[in-house]
Amino acid sequence: MNLLQVRKMMLFTAQRMIESEPELTALDQIVGDGDHGIGMKRGFASIIELLQDEKFQPTDIGDFFIKIGTKLMTSMGGASGAIFGTLFRTGGKSIVGTMELNSEVFAKFLNDGWQGVYQRGNAEPGDKTMVDALSAASKSANELTHLTLNEALPIIAKSAMEGAEKTKQMIAVFGRAKNLGDRTIGHMDPGAVSMAFILKYMNDYIHMQ
Ligand code: ADP
Ligand code: MG
Repeated sequence: MNLLQVRKMMLFTAQRMIESEPELTALDQIVGDGDHGIGMKRGFASIIELLQDEKFQPTDIGDFFIKIGTKLMTSMGGASGAIFGTLFRTGGKSIVGTMELNSEVFAKFLNDGWQGVYQRGNAEPGDKTMVDALSAASKSANELTHLTLNEALPIIAKSAMEGAEKTKQMIAVFGRAKNLGDRTIGHMDPGAVSMAFILKYMNDYIHMQ
């Protein structure tokens, strides 16, 4: 995928994330403080504004993702603004100069993005956060670099969703959800679902083409 295609994929993903607001809100009402859907909606609405601005001309795919991350960080607020912003910024930095997104580059983006998220928030897999979806996606991506991105992305997106599903059994130790303890068992973490949705919508886009 070239830069223009990646830009179109993010526009589609942002639109779908905005439409997912009610679902994410409902989850955060059970597992957090109810603001996650609204935060994501605000963040991705700013992304759409950025993408529709003709003056927004990133130099390469890494630069593109860095600027997406900065926008998320400054527009969303909350724990997830910092976390999802860091994913795109750190992932973007590690692939600066790239003009073609393939499965190998995408694996690097996810791996280094995950490292950045860990440095920022210290959440490990099993802590009931978006890291449970992101780490599952990263590990899956690492095993699929011999495939094309079209072949690998459905499997990566599915792994992320499985990672999000597993958060049902976990007790939250981070963010507002930690105060709810056992009450969060049986429900997915909203940030993990957002992470899985982002990858699902990216995949939906590339398979519409
Ligand atoms: P807030 O917790 O400020 O209300 P949101 O509701 O927007 O923020 O986001 C909550 C989500 O952020 C959680 O569902 C979780 O996935 C994610 N999150 C919170 N803390 C961390 C962390 N330290 N590392 C990774 N993800 C985190
Ligand atoms: Mg919240």
